[in-house]
Parts: sequence; structure tokens; C-alpha cells
Amino acid sequence: MNAPLSDSLAARVERHLLHTVGVAPADAGPLALMTAVSQAARAELSRRWVATDASDRALKARRVCYLSMEFLIGRSLGNALDALGLNEAAEGSVGSHARQLEDIESREPDAALGNGGLGRLAACFLDSMAALGLPSYGYGIRYEFGMFAQRIVGGRQVEQPDPWLEDGTPWEFPRPDVHYPVRFGGWVERPESPDAQPVWRHAGEVSAKAYDHVIPGHGTERVSTLRLWKAAAPAHIDLAAFNSGDYARAAEFKNQFENISWVLYPNDSTPAGRELRLKQEYFFTSASIQDIVARHRAEHGRLSNLADKVAIHLNDTHPAIGVAELMRLLVDEHGVSWAAAWDITRRTFSYTNHTLMPEALETWPVSLMQQVLPRHLEIIFRINAELMALAQATRPGDVDFMRRLSLIDETGERRVRMANLSIVGSHTVNGVSKLHSDLLVETIFKDFTVLWPDRFTNMTNGITPRRWLAQANPGLSALLDARIGTGWRRDLMQLQRLKPLAEDAAFRAEFRAIKRANKQRLAALIERTTGVVVSPDSLFDVQVKRIHEYKRQLLNVLQVVHRYQAILANPDAPVVPRVVVFAGKAASSYHTAKSIIRLIHDVGAVINRDPRVGDRLKLVFIPNYGVSVAETIMPAADLSEQISTAGTEASGTGNMKLALNGALTIGTDDGANIEIRQAVGDDNIFIFGQLTHEVTALRAAGYQPMRIADGDPALQAVLDSIAAGAFNPDEPARYRGLIDSLLWGGDHYLLLADFAAYVAAQARVDALYRDAEAWSHKAVLNVAGMGGFSSDRTIREYAERIWRVAGQA
Ligand SMILES: *Cc1c(COP(=O)(O)O)cnc(C)c1O
Repeated sequence: MNAPLSDSLAARVERHLLHTVGVAPADAGPLALMTAVSQAARAELSRRWVATDASDRALKARRVCYLSMEFLIGRSLGNALDALGLNEAAEGSVGSHARQLEDIESREPDAALGNGGLGRLAACFLDSMAALGLPSYGYGIRYEFGMFAQRIVGGRQVEQPDPWLEDGTPWEFPRPDVHYPVRFGGWVERPESPDAQPVWRHAGEVSAKAYDHVIPGHGTERVSTLRLWKAAAPAHIDLAAFNSGDYARAAEFKNQFENISWVLYPNDSTPAGRELRLKQEYFFTSASIQDIVARHRAEHGRLSNLADKVAIHLNDTHPAIGVAELMRLLVDEHGVSWAAAWDITRRTFSYTNHTLMPEALETWPVSLMQQVLPRHLEIIFRINAELMALAQATRPGDVDFMRRLSLIDETGERRVRMANLSIVGSHTVNGVSKLHSDLLVETIFKDFTVLWPDRFTNMTNGITPRRWLAQANPGLSALLDARIGTGWRRDLMQLQRLKPLAEDAAFRAEFRAIKRANKQRLAALIERTTGVVVSPDSLFDVQVKRIHEYKRQLLNVLQVVHRYQAILANPDAPVVPRVVVFAGKAASSYHTAKSIIRLIHDVGAVINRDPRVGDRLKLVFIPNYGVSVAETIMPAADLSEQISTAGTEASGTGNMKLALNGALTIGTDDGANIEIRQAVGDDNIFIFGQLTHEVTALRAAGYQPMRIADGDPALQAVLDSIAAGAFNPDEPARYRGLIDSLLWGGDHYLLLADFAAYVAAQARVDALYRDAEAWSHKAVLNVAGMGGFSSDRTIREYAERIWRVAGQA
């Protein structure tokens, strides 16, 4: 078994070219080489997967199963080679074909099975679960089409399909013998005998088929598994239609089932397709829980000890229906009593909340759930009846208390509250930064703390240093290896050893040279994708994340326009040259976000072409933000924009990637920015703006944005120029609505309230950047302070305090 793997990687690559890809090695192009190198890595990962699985089975290990609608993985080849220690061998192998490894790796399409932070978090977590040797599974959907590809046409976002599987992927292992039926619709039959279980007479059924991705562990032979489900029409396809020559109908019949795993929904999607989205959620959750139960029965022969052997984690509420599904499986299919089943369920699940914004909490109309999942709705009603009894016993007669806790929202159209279901069905609920977790129990989940004060906790997010430092920033990694050793990859706290080096001028010079090389690489990407030429000697100021009003890209644009006006008004004043970089996707139905993308392009087109400005200010928007684009941007940033309205960003992880790569943060006191400030020191970060409680107070007191604009001529000039169409004379009224929403529409995210403080903070940024030594001193201290933001730390906390799962050697 080992023999064919023990020969050189180069020999294996040549064999794969010939046997797997089917080309003469001498004729192999970059795509063929990418496939062959991937196949060679896959073979080694396969061996590791088999060994890990055998060991976990032999030990009957307690496992964690991480259910997530999204896994934003990106590319796999570079990560696999890194984990397998095959980087140099691979360079040699492709070098013998006169190719560069970086170029070969860039031929792999991103696996973009997620929208943004939530999905990328799940991918970082898998990496850490593998590195820590946790017996673990990620569970999700094998979307045929991932997150849309973003093109910019005439300054506007155009969404294009992302057929990432079109040419196949070397990274998945189809498991044709692992499949489960997932049922929908129909009705529930009540048996005559009161002891018999109700029977769900479903109306439709699809088959969920398993496809595994092996997740390599860095510094360990152990791996983790990402099991993704594909929907397949049941075997009994409409043969009658097919045989009668009606192929269109036969195909339509098949599609009606298989479309469940076709597309990833943008998370601010339209109501159209909502039924399909509910079906997606149930589809992958049901398949995953059936898989967990089947594995457990095979290993233990009984279900009574399920909670002792499995931890099931809900990444947000998308898999929350799993609470009802496990109850259904236990009670209806395995004859467990309701009380025993509830005890097992509640000891098995845990749940992470990702948002405080009430409008972002997931609910489903009772009528839709009745139609799609009638038995689950019954189970939810019964859970709710018990919850209401507990509420009544705790606060007799407090009807409002009951109304707020209820799993059913009774105002207007009755809806099922998935967050409430997740809380009731879990033993532990966590937020994703200290501030967010505190706010959860003070605001939206306050009533639940009356019932279960110990259920709520915090797990501050983290990022994997393997992808976001070792792979993305080879220059800085090599410097770290030389100066503090290589151990930081698996123990990021070792970055603290950099602290004294911040005082070392020679070290700072090396650090600056690496940053400059990374900026050159980003400048090349900017020129290739936007046509704009930027100077790597400028300050690179980046705001890269999904486009959303609460993240306040518009506030940044206001600041850029102000900067532009200041340059024109004071042409001889010295200024720090800046390149302002945006990247991010807007949900396809989110008009305001799309309008902000267009505004960035309109403003950029005017500034970038204005000869009076030159290199002093450039504004660019890099299209198609995703993991691979982020890997080029993060190492090249000087300044990290994290400017959400205080109290709105649950954590953020982009902030962590940027600081880890030596960018200084300009940000609000929000989410994980607060913990970054504490870790790197108040002197090494630019914090500005209203605090969370001030935001609350300001809104309560009757916030008047117009008064702020009236009192600030600079702000007034910025708003006037955009509203008057200074950047889009072809259609001057284009952004009237956007500006009106600030002045007249209440400015919900308080851009105007924070504008002056933001501009002042930016002036402090400029002043510091003029002093290159002082700037790089702080940048080094940022890297040194970021050790606590490794997802290894986060996953260790989850494993110890929530999942009680131990790492295996
Ligand atoms: C890290 C990351 C995010 C999250 O960024 P935030 O700034 O925390 O919103 C989104 N998308 C991609 C591709 C990422 O890598």
C-alpha cells in the first residue's frame, strides 16, 4: 500500500499525467499539471483519511459534527501540499516542466460554497479541527453552483454562475454507498391506538448522496472530513414519460428533485425560492443526522448513549430544523420515548449565533412548514407547549414573557423562530466575540437567560494561520521562520516573540521590504483587473468584505470624496499618497449595496483620471472578492478598514487576517475589533466613533442626521457633490436616493454621526504613515499581538467547553 507512494513526488506526478489525466508528460500544460499534482496529493490524503477513520472507529471516539449551510473553502492544492510537506517537491516537479507552482495552483477554481464570513469561519474551523486531531465531520451541501462570480460592467455588478465542478474536482471522494432518503410534504396520520406513533405520509422523496472532501491537518497525519450532500432523484424516475419519448418531462421530473443542491443562495435573497431554501436546509440537515445516527448505531448498537458520543453543532440557525429531525428519528423511527428523546437531543446540540440584528434572524411561515415538513411542525408545537408551560411556571401570568420566548411568532402571519428553536434544543449557545456575546444576553436572548442562565457563553472567532499567513504571505512567513522559528504555524502565541524585534531597525527594514513586495503583487492584480496603475509606495488602505449598509462602505466613500476635495482645495499641501481598495459582493437583490458599488466606480473614475490628483489618491474596486482574491489582498494592506456601526458586526474575521499580516486597523469599537485593540495595544490601532451604548442612546434620543450635516461644512460639501451628480454627470440624480436616505431617511447606521471622528482618525493615520519607522514598529506589534486569534485557540475552546471532544494523536 505504501510502496507506490514512497517514490518521489515527481515520479508520481508523471504517472498521474499518463494514467489519470491521459496526456504525454512532455505535452502537459498547466491545467494537466494542476490535476496530476492534485492527484498525487489526494492519494496521500486518502491514505491518511483511511487511517484516521480506522483509528476513530477502533477507539469509538466521541466526535463533533459541524453542520453548516456554507463552507467557503477556496483552493485546496496549496493547502494540501503545505500540510503534506510536499511544497518543495511539487516546485521541483512542475519546475521540470518549466512551470511555476504558483501559476499551477492558480488554475484551480475556488470552492466558493459560502457567502462570506460565516462560511469562511466554517472552513477555518475544519482546518483547526484537523490540526488539533479532533474526531470531526463537517456537513454541508455540494452546491453545483457556488457563490456567484462578480463581474463589473459599466461600474455595475453583474452576477454570473459559478460552475466550479464543470471540469470535475480532484478533491472529492464520491461515496456511492452512503445515501439517505430525505422526504417532504404530505400529511401526518394519527393512529387509532394512543400508544402507536404518528406516521408521516410524505409526498416526495429525494436521495442525498455523500461526497467527501478530506481536510488535511497541518503538523499531524490526522485529517478531518467534510461530507457534502448532493440531491439525486429517487431511482424510480418517470420512466413512463421517458419511454413514451417525452424526454423533456422525464428531465423536468429529475430536475424537480435535483435542484435542491444546485445553487447557493445569497444570504439577502428574494422571497422567490424561499421554499427551495427551506428544502435545502432540511435536506442537508436530515441527511447529516441520519448519517450520524447510522454511524452511531453501527458503532454502539444503541441510541441511548448518543449524546455521550456525538456533539452536533449548529453554525447559525440554517440547520436548526435538526432539533426536530433528531426528535423525529428517535421517537418515530426508533421508538424512543418523547422524554428520553428530548433529553438526548438537548444534550447533543449546541448553537452559534452570528447576528444581533432582529431582521436577520431566520423565521419560516408556519403555513410553509406545514406544507413542506408537517411532522416537524407538530414536533415544534409540542416542544413549544413544554416551553410555554415552563415559562408560565417561571413567571406566572406574564403573557409578554411567554410571547417573546415562544417558538412561534404570533404577530401577523404566524412564523417559526429558528433561533428560539436552536436555543431550546441546545445545551450551549455562543456568540462570536465578547461584545456580541454580552449583547446577546442583554438584548435579543435576554428572556432565555431567565430560564437557563448558564446556557450562554462566548467563543471569539479565529482564523487559520496556515492559510492566512503561511500560504498567503510566504515572504513574511520566511522572515518569521528565520527569526522566531517555525512553531507559530501550530502555536500562534509564539508570535509574541516578535515583540522585541519591533525595536530592531534592521528587522523593521526587512519587514517593510516584504510588505512592499506584497504591495507590488497586489498592484499587478489591480492593474490586471481594473486597468488602474497604482504605486506600491502609496499607503494601501483596504476595505474588503461583503457590501452591506452596516459595514458602512459608504462612510469610507464619503471620506474619500472629502480627501479628493481637500487635495483640490489645497493643491500644494503635502499629502500621504493613498490607494483606497474596495472589494466585495452585494447580494443580487440588495439594491442599496449595488448602488454603493456603482458609486465607488463613479467616484473612482473621476479621481483616477484627474491630472490634478495624480498618485496622491487612487480609488479601485477589485472584482470578484473571494478567498483567493483575499489571499493576495491581506498581505499587501497597510490599513484595515473595520468601520461598522458599533453593535452591528458580531465579530469580523477579515479584521484578524489583515492585522495578522501587519496592517494597522482603523475601526469602531465593535465586534472583535475590541479584542484586537486589547491584544495589540491602544497605541497601535486607530479606534474612533460612537460606542455601542452611545449608538443606542443616540437613537433613543431622536437622532437628527440633518443637524450634523448642517453643522459640518466639509461633510455638507461631500454630500452635496454626490447628490448633485459631480461623479456621474450623465445621470446626475443617480445617488440622490442614497444621500437622501442619510439626510432624510434617518441614516440608520449613523454614518453622519461618525464622519468627523472618522476623518480625524484618518488624519492620525496619515501623520503616522509619514514616519515609516514608527509605522512599521506598530505594524510589527500588530503581528506580534495576534496569536490569540488563531482558530486553533477558538476550536480548543469549543472542544473543551462545548463539545467535550478530545484531540487524538
Ligand atoms: C474573511 C472573509 C470574509 C469575512 O470578512 P469580514 O471583514 O469579517 O466581513 C468574507 N469573505 C471572504 C472571502 C473572507 O476571506
